[in-house]
Amino acid sequence: MRKLPFTKGKLEEIASKWPTPFYVYDAAAIRENARRLKKAFGWNRGFREYFAVKATPNPHLLKMLSQCGFGADCSSLAELVLSKRAGITGENVMFTSNDTPAEEFREAWRTGAIVNFDDVTHWEYFLDAVAQGGTRPGAADFDGRVFCCRYNPGPLKGGNAIIGRPEEAKYGMPRDQLFRCYEMMRDAGVKRFGLHTMVASNELDPEYIIDTAKMLFDIAADVSRQLGVVFEFVNIGGGVGIPYKPGDRPMNLEYLGRGIEAAYRECVLGRGMKPLKIFMECGRCITGPYGYLVARVLHIKRKYRLYAGLDACMANLMRPAIYGAYHEIVVPGKESSGDTTTYDVTGSLCENNDKFAVQRVLPLLERGDFVVICDAGAHGHSMGFQYNGKLRSAELLLESDGSVREIRRAETLDDYFATLDFDGL
Ligand SMILES: *Cc1c(COP(=O)(O)O)cnc(C)c1O
Repeated sequence: MRKLPFTKGKLEEIASKWPTPFYVYDAAAIRENARRLKKAFGWNRGFREYFAVKATPNPHLLKMLSQCGFGADCSSLAELVLSKRAGITGENVMFTSNDTPAEEFREAWRTGAIVNFDDVTHWEYFLDAVAQGGTRPGAADFDGRVFCCRYNPGPLKGGNAIIGRPEEAKYGMPRDQLFRCYEMMRDAGVKRFGLHTMVASNELDPEYIIDTAKMLFDIAADVSRQLGVVFEFVNIGGGVGIPYKPGDRPMNLEYLGRGIEAAYRECVLGRGMKPLKIFMECGRCITGPYGYLVARVLHIKRKYRLYAGLDACMANLMRPAIYGAYHEIVVPGKESSGDTTTYDVTGSLCENNDKFAVQRVLPLLERGDFVVICDAGAHGHSMGFQYNGKLRSAELLLESDGSVREIRRAETLDDYFATLDFDGL
Protein backbone atom coordinates (compact mmCIF):
# COMPACT_ATOMS: atom_id res chain seq x y z
CA MET A 1 0.00 0.00 0.00
CA ARG A 2 1.28 3.42 -0.98
CA LYS A 3 2.38 5.72 1.83
CA LEU A 4 0.69 9.13 1.61
CA PRO A 5 2.18 12.43 2.82
CA PHE A 6 -1.08 13.23 4.65
CA THR A 7 -3.46 11.47 7.02
CA LYS A 8 -7.23 11.20 6.89
CA GLY A 9 -7.38 13.87 9.60
CA LYS A 10 -5.27 16.22 7.49
CA LEU A 11 -7.54 15.61 4.49
CA GLU A 12 -10.57 16.45 6.60
CA GLU A 13 -8.90 19.70 7.56
CA ILE A 14 -8.04 20.50 3.93
CA ALA A 15 -11.47 19.48 2.63
CA SER A 16 -13.18 21.80 5.11
CA LYS A 17 -11.62 24.65 3.15
CA TRP A 18 -11.35 23.17 -0.35
CA PRO A 19 -14.17 20.74 -1.12
CA THR A 20 -13.26 17.56 -2.99
CA PRO A 21 -12.21 16.82 -5.62
CA PHE A 22 -8.85 18.58 -5.55
CA TYR A 23 -5.25 17.95 -6.51
CA VAL A 24 -2.58 18.17 -3.87
CA TYR A 25 1.17 18.20 -4.56
CA ASP A 26 3.86 17.31 -2.05
CA ALA A 27 6.36 20.19 -2.28
CA ALA A 28 9.11 18.61 -0.17
CA ALA A 29 9.05 15.38 -2.19
CA ILE A 30 9.25 17.28 -5.49
CA ARG A 31 12.23 19.32 -4.25
CA GLU A 32 13.98 16.23 -2.96
CA ASN A 33 13.43 14.45 -6.26
CA ALA A 34 14.83 17.43 -8.17
CA ARG A 35 17.96 17.37 -5.97
CA ARG A 36 18.36 13.67 -6.62
CA LEU A 37 18.17 14.05 -10.39
CA LYS A 38 20.73 16.87 -10.40
CA LYS A 39 23.05 14.84 -8.19
CA ALA A 40 22.82 11.82 -10.50
CA PHE A 41 24.12 14.04 -13.33
CA GLY A 42 26.44 16.12 -11.17
CA TRP A 43 29.40 14.77 -13.18
CA ASN A 44 28.22 16.69 -16.25
CA ARG A 45 29.07 20.40 -16.19
CA GLY A 46 26.02 22.34 -17.28
CA PHE A 47 23.56 19.47 -16.86
CA ARG A 48 20.06 20.87 -16.98
CA GLU A 49 16.56 19.55 -16.66
CA TYR A 50 13.93 21.58 -18.53
CA PHE A 51 10.68 20.62 -16.85
CA ALA A 52 8.04 19.69 -19.43
CA VAL A 53 5.46 22.37 -18.66
CA LYS A 54 2.60 20.43 -20.21
CA ALA A 55 2.87 17.82 -17.45
CA THR A 56 1.81 20.25 -14.70
CA PRO A 57 1.37 23.78 -16.06
CA ASN A 58 1.13 25.70 -12.83
CA PRO A 59 3.29 28.82 -12.31
CA HIS A 60 3.85 28.02 -8.62
CA LEU A 61 5.29 24.62 -9.48
CA LEU A 62 7.32 26.09 -12.36
CA LYS A 63 8.78 28.71 -10.05
CA MET A 64 9.55 26.13 -7.39
CA LEU A 65 11.32 23.95 -9.97
CA SER A 66 13.20 26.93 -11.38
CA GLN A 67 14.44 27.63 -7.83
CA CYS A 68 15.72 24.04 -7.90
CA GLY A 69 17.72 25.01 -11.00
CA PHE A 70 15.38 23.64 -13.66
CA GLY A 71 14.39 25.35 -16.88
CA ALA A 72 11.07 25.02 -18.68
CA ASP A 73 10.32 22.94 -21.76
CA CYS A 74 7.48 24.59 -23.64
CA SER A 75 5.52 23.37 -26.64
CA SER A 76 2.91 26.08 -27.13
CA LEU A 77 2.25 29.81 -26.85
CA ALA A 78 0.39 29.38 -23.56
CA GLU A 79 3.29 27.43 -22.07
CA LEU A 80 5.78 30.10 -23.20
CA VAL A 81 3.66 32.85 -21.66
CA LEU A 82 3.10 30.84 -18.49
CA SER A 83 6.84 30.25 -18.09
CA LYS A 84 7.55 33.93 -18.68
CA ARG A 85 5.01 34.87 -16.01
CA ALA A 86 6.73 32.43 -13.64
CA GLY A 87 9.94 34.34 -14.33
CA ILE A 88 11.50 31.79 -16.69
CA THR A 89 12.87 33.31 -19.90
CA GLY A 90 15.84 33.26 -22.27
CA GLU A 91 17.89 30.08 -22.44
CA ASN A 92 16.04 28.80 -19.39
CA VAL A 93 13.30 27.97 -21.87
CA MET A 94 13.50 25.23 -24.47
CA PHE A 95 10.81 25.50 -27.12
CA THR A 96 10.10 22.01 -28.46
CA SER A 97 7.00 22.25 -30.60
CA ASN A 98 5.62 20.53 -33.65
CA ASP A 99 3.22 21.74 -36.35
CA THR A 100 4.09 25.15 -34.95
CA PRO A 101 2.03 28.30 -35.64
CA ALA A 102 4.03 31.41 -36.65
CA GLU A 103 2.92 33.33 -33.53
CA GLU A 104 4.49 30.67 -31.30
CA PHE A 105 7.85 30.90 -33.08
CA ARG A 106 7.66 34.69 -32.69
CA GLU A 107 7.04 34.43 -28.95
CA ALA A 108 9.86 31.88 -28.57
CA TRP A 109 12.19 34.27 -30.41
CA ARG A 110 11.02 37.24 -28.30
CA THR A 111 11.60 35.41 -25.04
CA GLY A 112 15.05 34.25 -26.17
CA ALA A 113 14.23 30.54 -25.85
CA ILE A 114 16.35 27.78 -27.30
CA VAL A 115 14.31 26.95 -30.39
CA ASN A 116 14.14 23.28 -31.25
CA PHE A 117 12.97 22.51 -34.81
CA ASP A 118 10.75 19.54 -35.47
CA ASP A 119 11.12 19.61 -39.25
CA VAL A 120 13.61 20.70 -41.90
CA THR A 121 10.99 23.06 -43.40
CA HIS A 122 10.56 24.88 -40.10
CA TRP A 123 13.80 26.83 -40.35
CA GLU A 124 12.54 28.87 -43.34
CA TYR A 125 9.09 29.07 -41.78
CA PHE A 126 10.62 30.36 -38.55
CA LEU A 127 12.64 33.04 -40.38
CA ASP A 128 9.49 34.25 -42.16
CA ALA A 129 7.49 34.13 -38.93
CA VAL A 130 10.02 36.34 -37.16
CA ALA A 131 10.37 38.68 -40.18
CA GLN A 132 6.58 39.24 -40.38
CA GLY A 133 6.90 40.57 -43.92
CA GLY A 134 10.01 42.62 -43.10
CA THR A 135 13.64 41.54 -43.18
CA ARG A 136 14.49 38.07 -42.02
CA PRO A 137 16.83 37.80 -39.07
CA GLY A 138 20.45 37.29 -40.11
CA ALA A 139 23.84 36.45 -38.66
CA ALA A 140 23.95 39.52 -36.39
CA ASP A 141 20.54 38.70 -34.91
CA PHE A 142 21.59 35.13 -34.22
CA ASP A 143 24.46 36.29 -32.06
CA GLY A 144 24.18 34.39 -28.78
CA ARG A 145 21.03 32.54 -29.89
CA VAL A 146 20.86 28.76 -29.59
CA PHE A 147 19.10 26.53 -32.11
CA CYS A 148 18.45 22.85 -32.00
CA CYS A 149 17.00 20.09 -34.19
CA ARG A 150 14.89 17.16 -33.14
CA TYR A 151 16.18 13.87 -34.49
CA ASN A 152 13.89 10.96 -35.37
CA PRO A 153 15.94 7.78 -35.66
CA GLY A 154 13.16 5.85 -37.45
CA PRO A 155 13.67 2.10 -37.47
CA LEU A 156 17.12 2.48 -35.85
CA LYS A 157 15.43 2.72 -32.48
CA GLY A 158 12.89 0.25 -31.09
CA GLY A 159 9.48 1.50 -30.06
CA ASN A 160 8.05 2.34 -26.70
CA ALA A 161 4.50 1.60 -25.54
CA ILE A 162 3.07 5.11 -25.20
CA ILE A 163 5.01 7.12 -27.77
CA GLY A 164 4.98 4.31 -30.36
CA ARG A 165 7.49 3.41 -33.05
CA PRO A 166 9.73 6.30 -34.19
CA GLU A 167 9.08 5.59 -37.89
CA GLU A 168 5.36 6.11 -37.29
CA ALA A 169 5.86 9.23 -35.18
CA LYS A 170 5.13 12.68 -36.59
CA TYR A 171 8.06 14.19 -34.70
CA GLY A 172 11.61 14.95 -35.63
CA MET A 173 13.87 14.78 -38.66
CA PRO A 174 15.36 11.76 -40.37
CA ARG A 175 19.14 11.80 -40.58
CA ASP A 176 19.52 13.43 -44.01
CA GLN A 177 17.09 16.26 -43.14
CA LEU A 178 18.83 16.77 -39.82
CA PHE A 179 22.15 17.34 -41.59
CA ARG A 180 20.47 19.63 -44.11
CA CYS A 181 18.87 21.72 -41.38
CA TYR A 182 22.14 22.24 -39.49
CA GLU A 183 23.81 23.16 -42.76
CA MET A 184 21.17 25.82 -43.49
CA MET A 185 21.47 27.24 -39.99
CA ARG A 186 25.25 27.26 -40.16
CA ASP A 187 25.17 29.03 -43.52
CA ALA A 188 22.74 31.61 -42.13
CA GLY A 189 25.26 32.49 -39.41
CA VAL A 190 24.04 30.50 -36.43
CA LYS A 191 26.91 29.69 -34.09
CA ARG A 192 25.38 27.91 -31.12
CA PHE A 193 23.78 24.49 -31.56
CA GLY A 194 22.09 21.70 -29.69
CA LEU A 195 20.73 18.30 -30.69
CA HIS A 196 17.52 16.77 -29.39
CA THR A 197 15.46 13.63 -29.53
CA MET A 198 12.45 12.30 -27.66
CA VAL A 199 11.73 8.65 -28.29
CA ALA A 200 10.45 7.39 -24.96
CA SER A 201 7.39 7.81 -22.79
CA ASN A 202 6.97 6.33 -19.34
CA GLU A 203 10.09 4.24 -19.95
CA LEU A 204 11.30 2.34 -16.89
CA ASP A 205 14.31 0.65 -18.48
CA PRO A 206 17.43 2.80 -17.91
CA GLU A 207 19.23 1.02 -20.76
CA TYR A 208 16.74 2.48 -23.25
CA ILE A 209 17.56 6.02 -22.10
CA ILE A 210 21.31 5.30 -21.98
CA ASP A 211 21.12 4.00 -25.57
CA THR A 212 19.28 7.17 -26.57
CA ALA A 213 22.09 9.29 -25.13
CA LYS A 214 24.69 7.19 -26.99
CA MET A 215 22.76 7.60 -30.21
CA LEU A 216 22.80 11.39 -29.78
CA PHE A 217 26.52 11.47 -28.93
CA ASP A 218 27.18 9.56 -32.16
CA ILE A 219 25.02 11.81 -34.32
CA ALA A 220 26.51 14.93 -32.74
CA ALA A 221 29.97 13.61 -33.63
CA ASP A 222 28.90 12.86 -37.22
CA VAL A 223 27.29 16.28 -37.76
CA SER A 224 30.27 18.07 -36.22
CA ARG A 225 32.72 16.18 -38.40
CA GLN A 226 30.76 16.67 -41.61
CA LEU A 227 29.54 20.24 -41.16
CA GLY A 228 32.02 21.73 -38.74
CA VAL A 229 29.29 22.83 -36.31
CA VAL A 230 30.08 22.58 -32.61
CA PHE A 231 27.38 21.35 -30.26
CA GLU A 232 26.89 22.81 -26.80
CA PHE A 233 24.38 20.25 -25.64
CA VAL A 234 22.41 17.15 -26.41
CA ASN A 235 18.87 16.97 -25.06
CA ILE A 236 17.90 13.37 -24.44
CA GLY A 237 14.22 14.31 -24.09
CA GLY A 238 11.76 13.32 -21.43
CA GLY A 239 9.97 10.06 -21.05
CA VAL A 240 11.55 8.69 -17.89
CA GLY A 241 8.82 6.55 -16.36
CA ILE A 242 7.39 6.15 -12.90
CA PRO A 243 6.16 2.98 -11.20
CA TYR A 244 2.39 3.28 -11.52
CA LYS A 245 1.69 -0.39 -10.86
CA PRO A 246 2.60 -2.37 -7.77
CA GLY A 247 5.63 -4.39 -8.83
CA ASP A 248 6.89 -1.79 -11.34
CA ARG A 249 10.48 -0.93 -10.57
CA PRO A 250 11.24 2.77 -10.36
CA MET A 251 13.93 4.16 -12.65
CA ASN A 252 17.20 4.15 -10.76
CA LEU A 253 18.35 7.71 -11.50
CA GLU A 254 21.83 7.10 -10.08
CA TYR A 255 22.28 4.09 -12.37
CA LEU A 256 20.98 6.16 -15.29
CA GLY A 257 23.42 8.97 -14.51
CA ARG A 258 26.36 6.55 -14.27
CA GLY A 259 25.35 4.75 -17.47
CA ILE A 260 25.19 7.99 -19.43
CA GLU A 261 28.49 9.10 -17.88
CA ALA A 262 30.17 5.92 -19.14
CA ALA A 263 28.71 6.48 -22.61
CA TYR A 264 29.85 10.11 -22.49
CA ARG A 265 33.39 9.12 -21.61
CA GLU A 266 33.50 6.68 -24.49
CA CYS A 267 31.59 8.54 -27.21
CA VAL A 268 32.37 12.19 -26.45
CA LEU A 269 35.64 12.42 -24.51
CA GLY A 270 36.99 9.30 -26.23
CA ARG A 271 36.56 11.01 -29.61
CA GLY A 272 38.22 14.18 -28.42
CA MET A 273 35.00 16.19 -28.83
CA LYS A 274 34.42 19.41 -26.89
CA PRO A 275 32.46 18.93 -23.64
CA LEU A 276 28.72 18.58 -24.16
CA LYS A 277 26.05 19.56 -21.70
CA ILE A 278 23.36 16.99 -21.09
CA PHE A 279 19.84 18.37 -21.11
CA MET A 280 16.64 16.54 -20.24
CA GLU A 281 13.02 17.58 -20.51
CA CYS A 282 11.21 15.23 -18.22
CA GLY A 283 7.78 15.94 -16.84
CA ARG A 284 6.32 12.75 -15.46
CA CYS A 285 9.24 11.60 -13.32
CA ILE A 286 9.64 15.06 -11.76
CA THR A 287 6.16 15.62 -10.33
CA GLY A 288 4.13 12.51 -11.26
CA PRO A 289 4.53 10.46 -8.05
CA TYR A 290 4.05 13.53 -5.84
CA GLY A 291 0.61 14.65 -6.96
CA TYR A 292 -2.65 13.15 -5.69
CA LEU A 293 -6.22 13.50 -6.85
CA VAL A 294 -8.37 13.49 -3.72
CA ALA A 295 -12.06 12.65 -4.10
CA ARG A 296 -14.86 11.32 -1.97
CA VAL A 297 -17.25 8.44 -2.47
CA LEU A 298 -20.61 9.80 -3.58
CA HIS A 299 -22.58 6.64 -4.29
CA ILE A 300 -22.15 2.91 -3.86
CA LYS A 301 -24.11 1.06 -6.53
CA ARG A 302 -24.74 -2.66 -6.70
CA LYS A 303 -25.63 -3.88 -10.19
CA TYR A 304 -24.01 -6.65 -12.21
CA ARG A 305 -20.86 -5.28 -10.65
CA LEU A 306 -20.21 -3.23 -7.55
CA TYR A 307 -19.52 0.44 -8.31
CA ALA A 308 -17.98 3.14 -6.17
CA GLY A 309 -18.96 6.46 -7.72
CA LEU A 310 -16.71 9.40 -6.82
CA ASP A 311 -17.18 13.15 -6.91
CA ALA A 312 -14.27 13.26 -9.39
CA CYS A 313 -14.50 11.97 -12.95
CA MET A 314 -12.27 11.43 -15.99
CA ALA A 315 -12.50 15.17 -16.66
CA ASN A 316 -10.19 15.47 -13.63
CA LEU A 317 -7.86 12.63 -14.63
CA MET A 318 -8.26 10.98 -17.97
CA ARG A 319 -5.24 8.69 -18.10
CA PRO A 320 -7.14 5.56 -16.99
CA ALA A 321 -9.85 6.16 -19.59
CA ILE A 322 -7.64 7.00 -22.57
CA TYR A 323 -4.60 4.79 -21.94
CA GLY A 324 -6.12 2.15 -19.69
CA ALA A 325 -3.53 3.50 -17.24
CA TYR A 326 -3.27 2.02 -13.77
CA HIS A 327 -3.30 4.42 -10.82
CA GLU A 328 -3.03 3.16 -7.27
CA ILE A 329 -5.94 4.04 -5.04
CA VAL A 330 -5.63 4.53 -1.30
CA VAL A 331 -8.51 4.93 1.14
CA PRO A 332 -7.08 6.94 4.06
CA GLY A 333 -8.10 5.60 7.45
CA LYS A 334 -8.85 2.19 5.96
CA GLU A 335 -5.34 1.33 4.73
CA SER A 336 -5.01 -1.69 6.96
CA SER A 337 -8.64 -2.77 6.83
CA GLY A 338 -8.93 -6.51 6.27
CA ASP A 339 -12.45 -6.07 4.89
CA THR A 340 -12.02 -5.70 1.16
CA THR A 341 -14.06 -6.24 -1.94
CA THR A 342 -13.88 -5.61 -5.68
CA TYR A 343 -15.08 -2.33 -7.19
CA ASP A 344 -15.20 -0.46 -10.43
CA VAL A 345 -14.34 3.06 -9.30
CA THR A 346 -16.20 5.52 -11.50
CA GLY A 347 -16.91 9.17 -12.15
CA SER A 348 -20.15 10.76 -13.25
CA LEU A 349 -19.60 11.35 -16.97
CA CYS A 350 -22.09 9.89 -19.43
CA GLU A 351 -19.28 7.70 -20.75
CA ASN A 352 -18.83 4.14 -19.64
CA ASN A 353 -15.03 4.45 -19.78
CA ASP A 354 -15.21 7.03 -17.00
CA LYS A 355 -13.55 4.64 -14.57
CA PHE A 356 -10.49 5.29 -12.41
CA ALA A 357 -10.14 1.58 -11.75
CA VAL A 358 -11.76 -1.58 -13.05
CA GLN A 359 -12.28 -4.60 -10.80
CA ARG A 360 -10.01 -3.21 -8.10
CA VAL A 361 -9.83 -4.78 -4.65
CA LEU A 362 -10.31 -2.00 -2.07
CA PRO A 363 -11.37 -1.67 1.54
CA LEU A 364 -15.15 -1.62 1.97
CA LEU A 365 -16.24 1.87 0.95
CA GLU A 366 -18.98 4.08 2.29
CA ARG A 367 -20.40 7.39 1.13
CA GLY A 368 -18.10 10.21 2.22
CA ASP A 369 -14.89 8.16 2.36
CA PHE A 370 -11.83 9.87 0.94
CA VAL A 371 -10.39 8.11 -2.08
CA VAL A 372 -6.86 9.15 -3.07
CA ILE A 373 -5.74 8.46 -6.61
CA CYS A 374 -1.93 8.31 -6.65
CA ASP A 375 0.67 9.30 -9.26
CA ALA A 376 -1.51 12.06 -10.66
CA GLY A 377 1.16 14.77 -10.41
CA ALA A 378 1.95 14.85 -14.13
CA HIS A 379 -0.40 14.70 -17.11
CA GLY A 380 -3.24 14.72 -14.57
CA HIS A 381 -4.92 18.06 -13.95
CA SER A 382 -3.34 19.37 -17.15
CA MET A 383 -5.25 16.89 -19.32
CA GLY A 384 -8.51 17.91 -17.68
CA PHE A 385 -11.48 18.98 -19.76
CA GLN A 386 -15.05 20.15 -19.34
CA TYR A 387 -17.17 17.57 -21.15
CA ASN A 388 -20.60 17.14 -19.56
CA GLY A 389 -20.06 20.52 -17.92
CA LYS A 390 -17.60 19.11 -15.42
CA LEU A 391 -15.35 21.73 -13.88
CA ARG A 392 -11.63 21.50 -13.31
CA SER A 393 -10.62 21.20 -9.69
CA ALA A 394 -8.38 23.26 -7.44
CA GLU A 395 -4.66 22.52 -7.13
CA LEU A 396 -3.07 22.72 -3.70
CA LEU A 397 0.53 22.65 -2.55
CA LEU A 398 1.33 20.85 0.69
CA GLU A 399 4.50 22.20 2.31
CA SER A 400 6.74 20.18 4.63
CA ASP A 401 5.51 22.13 7.68
CA GLY A 402 1.99 20.88 6.93
CA SER A 403 0.72 24.17 5.57
CA VAL A 404 -1.40 24.08 2.44
CA ARG A 405 -1.49 26.73 -0.25
CA GLU A 406 -4.00 27.07 -3.06
CA ILE A 407 -2.05 27.31 -6.31
CA ARG A 408 -5.11 27.18 -8.57
CA ARG A 409 -8.69 27.74 -7.57
CA ALA A 410 -11.44 25.40 -8.68
CA GLU A 411 -13.42 26.45 -11.74
CA THR A 412 -16.90 27.82 -11.21
CA LEU A 413 -20.01 27.71 -13.38
CA ASP A 414 -19.24 31.32 -14.30
CA ASP A 415 -15.89 30.17 -15.74
CA TYR A 416 -17.70 27.49 -17.69
CA PHE A 417 -20.23 29.94 -19.14
CA ALA A 418 -17.74 32.77 -19.66
CA THR A 419 -17.46 32.22 -23.42
CA LEU A 420 -21.21 32.11 -24.03
CA ASP A 421 -23.34 35.13 -24.88
CA PHE A 422 -26.69 34.69 -23.16
CA ASP A 423 -27.70 38.28 -23.89
CA GLY A 424 -27.81 37.63 -27.62
CA LEU A 425 -30.51 34.95 -27.23
C1 LIG B 1 5.61 15.20 -23.38
C2 LIG B 1 6.98 15.63 -23.71
C3 LIG B 1 7.96 15.66 -22.71
C4 LIG B 1 7.72 15.18 -21.31
O1 LIG B 1 7.41 13.82 -21.28
P1 LIG B 1 7.35 13.04 -19.87
O2 LIG B 1 6.85 11.70 -20.27
O3 LIG B 1 6.37 13.79 -19.03
O4 LIG B 1 8.71 13.04 -19.30
C5 LIG B 1 9.20 16.14 -23.04
N1 LIG B 1 9.47 16.56 -24.30
C6 LIG B 1 8.56 16.55 -25.28
C7 LIG B 1 8.94 17.02 -26.62
C8 LIG B 1 7.28 16.07 -25.02
O5 LIG B 1 6.39 16.04 -26.01
